[in-house]
Amino acid sequence: MRITTHAERCVGSGQCVLTEPAVFSQDDDGVVTLLTDRPEGPAAEGARKAVFVCPTRSLSLMED
Ligand code: SF4
Repeated sequence: MRITTHAERCVGSGQCVLTEPAVFSQDDDGVVTLLTDRPEGPAAEGARKAVFVCPTRSLSLMED
């Protein structure tokens, strides 16, 4: 699995970080950043949930 972000859409709500803090973070402006783009195990499942909960569809997931 690979996670990609669309930072231009991000409104900094932080739902991704609350859902999976091992994968997502925010920069000083609140825009999403990735700690890893290839999460594994429980972090991968958390990342899937984060993609689902993001209100602006700023996160994408591609399966390998
Ligand atoms: S949940 Fe979506 S809009 Fe909110 S900070 Fe994360 S990527 Fe940005």
